[in-house]
Amino acid sequence: MFEKVSVPVLGVVENMSTHVCSHCGHEDALFGQGGGARLAAECGVALLARTAARRGQVRAESDQGRPTVLSAPGTARAQAYELMARRVAGALARRPRDRAGAFPGIVVETKS
Ligand SMILES: [Zn+2]
Repeated sequence: MFEKVSVPVLGVVENMSTHVCSHCGHEDALFGQGGGARLAAECGVALLARTAARRGQVRAESDQGRPTVLSAPGTARAQAYELMARRVAGALARRPRDRAGAFPGIVVETKS
């Protein structure tokens, strides 16, 4: 779909790939496993991240204006976002650069 509208796709983020119990920390794959990796492989892009649902922690941190990487550095949830950011940066760096718009068109006229 994105290719049809010329929107480049850097990769897949499997959001809420698991749920982490706020009482005991047990992690369950509520929607099955491997869906993000399968989709990434089908589309020929990278799996950028898998994030877990943690009973509103990330939402609460973001609502307070302190994203998880700042409010809870070193935690598994912060590390997931840091890894995603590194992978997005890598995917952007590997993209070919289009400098066609930086130069004017060149026209060569000949007299005959
Ligand atoms: Zn539990």
